[in-house]
Amino acid sequence: MVKEIEKEGKKYYICGECEFVYDSKEWAQKCEDCCKEHHSCNIEITKHAVKL
Ligand SMILES: [Zn+2]
Repeated sequence: MVKEIEKEGKKYYICGECEFVYDSKEWAQKCEDCCKEHHSCNIEITKHAVKL
């Protein structure tokens, strides 16, 4: 389940599996789907992650 958080007026989305943070829900959802399926992160997805 992708988690939504708000920080400094911006919304972020967190993959419920690996807890990488994204600024788009689409990427967070893709990450979570991939994490669930492969039990690991795909670098093509995690490169879109942001650091808080
Ligand atoms: Zn993930």
